[in-house]
Amino acid sequence: MIRLLTAIIGVFLMATGAQAQDGNTTGKSWSLTIHGGAGVIERENLTAEKDREVRAALTRALEAGSEVLASGGTSMDAVQAAIIVLEDDPNFNAGRGSVFTYKGRNEMDAAIMDGKTLDAGSAAGVTATKNPIKLARAVMEQSPHVLLSRDGANEFSMEQELEQAGPQWFATDERYRQLEELKARQAEDEASGSGAKTSYFDIDMKYGTVGAVAVDMDGNMAAGTSTGGLTGKRWGRIGDSPIIGAGTYADNRACAISATGAGEFFIRLGVAHEICARMRMKGEDAKTAADAVIRELGELGGTGGVIVAAPDGTAAWSYNTPGMYRGRATSAGVKQVGIYGDEE
Ligand code: ASP
Repeated sequence: MIRLLTAIIGVFLMATGAQAQDGNTTGKSWSLTIHGGAGVIERENLTAEKDREVRAALTRALEAGSEVLASGGTSMDAVQAAIIVLEDDPNFNAGRGSVFTYKGRNEMDAAIMDGKTLDAGSAAGVTATKNPIKLARAVMEQSPHVLLSRDGANEFSMEQELEQAGPQWFATDERYRQLEELKARQAEDEASGSGAKTSYFDIDMKYGTVGAVAVDMDGNMAAGTSTGGLTGKRWGRIGDSPIIGAGTYADNRACAISATGAGEFFIRLGVAHEICARMRMKGEDAKTAADAVIRELGELGGTGGVIVAAPDGTAAWSYNTPGMYRGRATSAGVKQVGIYGDEE
């Protein structure tokens, strides 16, 4: 009798679509998509060890965010949890392992946005907060502002009692070597008198910005991005990541987006908001909208990529670089990480 009743209830749930495909009985689904930067990421320029480390870190980030979402947590908490894992991993250009400025410092940018309320917070040029994504969240929740920068943002971080770290926490030898390489190339440019400024926007060896987009069981969306910016940046340069609408955007009506690439181009096109607007007003799906805007970015001369989630939990990535560190997990049991352009 009990077995018969269970079977009848099961058929009813399937018929009404109330049971999620992964068998969770709440009847609600979630999805999480992450990236760890885009660039000239090809099999021949990644050691087997680096490949393994990156995949392991992406997997851990997906697990941290999925755990939040699967237990009914919010997309904001999931995005933050996934990003913290990547900020703490020196393989990525965010938090520990951030690239160096021209003067040999680490100046980090981060942003987070809540698609339900359109609340947003970001921090730019910060130097001592261990996890800049937490600072972005604090700006959103504890200040009347959206974007704080440099000394003021550092000060606010301390007032909020966020964990601080010294320069040695963020610095890695590999990033320092990249700065030296860049300076050598810039010196060559100058010596040749070609006037080439390409090295300023060359993201080939600086990939590693991190981001996450999520849809939680209540259908709320969030997006976050964290970065050290571009190697050799100077004059207080700030990229797209902390600019709401350029590198980060979330709106429950249409999308959650995090971008990576040569930030100047993403700012000029307002990439994240542009993709969102296409989805909201033209009714394009995530992939169509993202591909169209990344095509425009390429036409301007920009390189990079985006991750995009739609309210129904579908997600897409789009990039015009050879590869992008990326990953995806859903309540339906999808769990996937990728690095190269020839992977799904
Ligand atoms: N978009 C970041 C910036 O321009 C860098 C990156 O994504 O690699 O600061």
